[in-house]
Amino acid sequence: MTKQTVRTRFAPSPTGYMHIGNLRTALYGYLYAKSQQGQFILRIEDTDRTRYVADAVDFINRTLEMAHIVPDESPSLGGPYGPYVQSERMDLYKQYAEELVKTGHAYYCFCDPDEDHSAGQFGGYDRTCRNLSPEVIEEHLKNGDPYVIRQKMPLTGETTFFDVLHGNITIKNEELEDQVLLKRDGMPTYNFANVIDDHLMHITHIMRGAEFITSTPKYILLYESFGWDVPTFIHLAPVMGKNEDGSISKLSKRHGATSFDDLVKAGYLPDAIVNYVALLGWNPKTTNQEIFSMDELIEHFSLEGLSKSPAVFDYDKLGWINGEY
Ligand code: GLU
Repeated sequence: MTKQTVRTRFAPSPTGYMHIGNLRTALYGYLYAKSQQGQFILRIEDTDRTRYVADAVDFINRTLEMAHIVPDESPSLGGPYGPYVQSERMDLYKQYAEELVKTGHAYYCFCDPDEDHSAGQFGGYDRTCRNLSPEVIEEHLKNGDPYVIRQKMPLTGETTFFDVLHGNITIKNEELEDQVLLKRDGMPTYNFANVIDDHLMHITHIMRGAEFITSTPKYILLYESFGWDVPTFIHLAPVMGKNEDGSISKLSKRHGATSFDDLVKAGYLPDAIVNYVALLGWNPKTTNQEIFSMDELIEHFSLEGLSKSPAVFDYDKLGWINGEY
């Protein structure tokens, strides 16, 4: 693999059932990778065991299969690796968190979680443990005191990153909390494992929901701390659902039939659903065509056609996708 090979990923947390908004993120990642002769991988981000939904992973696999989105490096293709599962990679995250402590970009925090340490300027952690002496740290460790590892955010300056859809985004570093990277039980936080894996898996383009824009500067600082190349970010505008009163809000279960499975059961053809989902926020600039096969979607897909505005999934207007105008 050369450094230029485009690699994208779909990195769902199995905390609920995948709806077509999530499917759209996967599809765009797949289409972009394939349009660039690159690779698309599936990574299950299941480190938050408290929110784990037992059959959510099956649901993800089934949805991708029905939609003919085939991850690379998957056993079904004869590949030896994926889908990647974060809960199987715990030692690795710990090792990288310890490395950041050694290089001074992170620190052990022995604060009791039941005590109030929310005195920071923006309500975040008050940084009590940020400057403990080596002797004190040694003592805590010798006593086997539980700890978390926190990222040592710069106290001054700004962090800027470039997003293909939104341009340069800048945040003042003083607004960033010394976030937890490794929890007391040794599990990584979602933010930490995500960065480690995107690097180790050679991801070049990160496509995900716009709700991650505000945390991205923290990721950028992690990349910088490790001295790693920062990938290209594409934060997608959300897919909205229609509420009974006519208003719209981010698509979720409460909007009723919103999964691929629901639509197949309602009689819609899988290829037509994929076609519909692709056009929810992407406009093929090179053609006026409305009906696309997967190969044609790959052929026409480009980042320039992605919309910055939210798309609305309207179940009542779905008829056209089966040719019922
Ligand atoms: N695991 C995250 C989620 O399911 C996705 C984060 C990402 O794509 O970077 O919301």
